[in-house]
Amino acid sequence: MQSALESALLQLESAVAVLGIDEGLHQLLATPRRSLEVAVPLRRDDGSLEVLQGYRVQHNLSRGPAKGGIRFHPHTDLNEVRALAMWMTWKCALIGIPYGGAKGGVAVDPRALSRNELERVTRRYASEIIPIIGPEKDIPAPDVGTDEQTMAWIMDTYSMHSGYTVTGVVTGKPVSIGGSQGRGGATSRGVMYACFSALREAGVDHREVTIAVQGFGKVGGLAAQYLHDAGCTVVAVSDVGGAIYNGDGLDPAALLKHLRSGADTVVGYPGTDSISNAELLELDVDVLVPAALEGVIHEGNAANVKARFVVEGANGPTTPDGDKVLEDKGVVVVPDILANSGGVAVSYFEWVQDLQAYFWSEDEVNDRLKVLMERAYDDVSALATAKGLSLRTAAQVIGVGRVAEAHRTRGLYP
Ligand code: GLU
Repeated sequence: MQSALESALLQLESAVAVLGIDEGLHQLLATPRRSLEVAVPLRRDDGSLEVLQGYRVQHNLSRGPAKGGIRFHPHTDLNEVRALAMWMTWKCALIGIPYGGAKGGVAVDPRALSRNELERVTRRYASEIIPIIGPEKDIPAPDVGTDEQTMAWIMDTYSMHSGYTVTGVVTGKPVSIGGSQGRGGATSRGVMYACFSALREAGVDHREVTIAVQGFGKVGGLAAQYLHDAGCTVVAVSDVGGAIYNGDGLDPAALLKHLRSGADTVVGYPGTDSISNAELLELDVDVLVPAALEGVIHEGNAANVKARFVVEGANGPTTPDGDKVLEDKGVVVVPDILANSGGVAVSYFEWVQDLQAYFWSEDEVNDRLKVLMERAYDDVSALATAKGLSLRTAAQVIGVGRVAEAHRTRGLYP
């Protein structure tokens, strides 16, 4: 199966071909500007010492400071972080926010650590990447396995080293310390806007669609809830424990409450049938929302996907081989850099609010998010129609094209 990095590089190649970018600039766009690898020693609660591996990759800085999340996951490695950083570059350019792309990660299973251990890992990792982060340099945010508490610890660590409080060094913070209203649900809300744009374009009433959400976590959980609240029927969701199905529809808010009150998986929830994660991806639904990790739709299973729309809440859930199969079947794929861009969009709003020390209402945040995402969708769809491209290639062409343009305009130093 194609790795995240292979996928990202192939997608870049497709955009480069459409744009007619020369080989030198192609190479520049394919290469991360900086890759930092750090050791993260952790004193476990039992007194033993473990050394974890951490990364921060700044893929491109041509349009502004680097921006992107930090992932805590046992399988994270440098190549995955490179791919994720590259996708951040195109995503920020596509939605028109003044950032380059970055990503960070620590190879660790956060669920296997105590809260104190998690705090120590986070603070040590933060102190190791301090030389390259900052509100004007590189602004981390949550990703898989991290949350607003992680951001609070990073903000505090950075601020303690600076000697004063620097709110703008991370986004996705708690509202009490400079976070933005609406950031918590922003990626999920954006997934809903992207989904509705695609349905509207196809003339489909969103109140008549059935939806399966793979990954009932930070992004998928709230996306399921928002879609349900807007009138869609969410028939299946999954998490690491497996998947559940109810043809009459699930109640995502009740499921989220069930998880918050201590259940460690959605599996076994009353009134639902257990199915496998693989079965969920192949359900006969209108919309499939992959909202977990990379590479879940690939050459091996894409032919069995029955959904007419795939709205990518995750980064890189479809490999290029999988993409080809979906495209041939006429499935509309709303690509990750468009569909999940609501998170970084509201991160941008948070950073702007921090820099100005002037905060907006939740309605203001949500309204601006909607405008930004609908505009990005319309740009992508117009280009796709005009040039006969898939939405993915059109989104990449816009993102990559803007970054290429920034390089040409700035020129090469020295
Ligand atoms: N981790 C999220 C993403 O992949 C958000 C990044 C950010 O807000 O900087 O888009």
